Amino acid sequence: MYDYLIVGSGLYGAVCAYELSRAGKSVLVIDKRGHIGGNVYTECVGGINVHRYGAHIFHTSDKKIWEYVNRFAEFHPFVNQPIARYKNEIYNLPFNMNTFTKLWNDVFTPAQAEERINAERGENFVAEPKNLEEQALNLVGRTIYEKLIKGYTEKQWGRACADLPAFIIRRLPVRFTFDNNYFDDVYQGIPVGGYTKFVAKMLADVDVQLKSDFLEDREGYLALARRVIYTGPIDAYYRYRFGALEYRSVRFETEILDIPNYQGNAVVNYTDSDVPFTRIIEHKHFEFGTQPKTVISREYSAEWKRGDEPYYPVNDTKNGRLYEQYRVLAEDEGKVVFGGRLGQYRYYDMDDTIASALDLVKAELTR
Ligand code: UDP
Repeated sequence: MYDYLIVGSGLYGAVCAYELSRAGKSVLVIDKRGHIGGNVYTECVGGINVHRYGAHIFHTSDKKIWEYVNRFAEFHPFVNQPIARYKNEIYNLPFNMNTFTKLWNDVFTPAQAEERINAERGENFVAEPKNLEEQALNLVGRTIYEKLIKGYTEKQWGRACADLPAFIIRRLPVRFTFDNNYFDDVYQGIPVGGYTKFVAKMLADVDVQLKSDFLEDREGYLALARRVIYTGPIDAYYRYRFGALEYRSVRFETEILDIPNYQGNAVVNYTDSDVPFTRIIEHKHFEFGTQPKTVISREYSAEWKRGDEPYYPVNDTKNGRLYEQYRVLAEDEGKVVFGGRLGQYRYYDMDDTIASALDLVKAELTR
């Protein structure tokens, strides 16, 4: 009998496992996949750490969280500066002076950029944007919305911008400085040696069983421990009793190319709707790799269906209501608690995931 069974060895589960085990609890982690790390898993191919489930760039403004992750790895001083390709035009992201001066050849200063964007907002301005389209038009006006947001967002989410929540676009900074850093956070980097090694360090002292699907033998697994932390999809746990929550899934087309440099940047977003993929990741650039070959992944976004891997919760009103029904059920669980992007149906970044796992452990240890 373990003190804790943790279902899922992703970041949330791994932080819980590490902390609980350090506090003297016996912990078993199970994962249905054949590897640890959940979607932060990286695999080394010819010396290049390939982000198998999409690019993960660690960033946070919380000094404690930054110090915490540095216990498990050193970090490459990587700064995400994605490029947007719209048809045959190339722009810097996030939206900043480099973007504005390239878009408009009569814009040279921040004041001119603001004036131009004000004019572009024009009659589209709404006091309280209710959806992503209104929010994007408010933030950057029509041209940027059409070239750099609309196509990308509708591919990524498979929904019209007018049907998506406004908060998604507020993840991106808009700046009137020549600063291509995608994130506003104080700390940023990529763990040296890859995320798998980073997570393995957290799991070093706990029992881990791979290829073990909790949902296939829930009674058997529940009997193994006094408490259970479940990080899988909450709707699957409840056998989709109220219906399935919607997720976006991603399909990766990964290729090894016999050239040292394919696109000159870790991330290139394809923002026009005619290109079927959303972005291409060139993995070596996350760690300034100088290998003779390179590995690239094209990302195709798709609606999740049962059996696929869920990646992104679709946090619109309809799914919010459905999740709330599951959350209420979860509150009454005796020994099972739910956490992480899937357990809480939240668009968590990695730092939020860690902070949330640390909060849970604190609550567990004082209950
Ligand atoms: N986005 C966009 N154009 C881009 C990149 C992002 O319109 O070139 C929008 C899109 O709606 C996306 C959101 O910004 O869903 C958040 O992007 P982020 O890079 O944070 O998404 P993630 O890396 O989590 O997939």
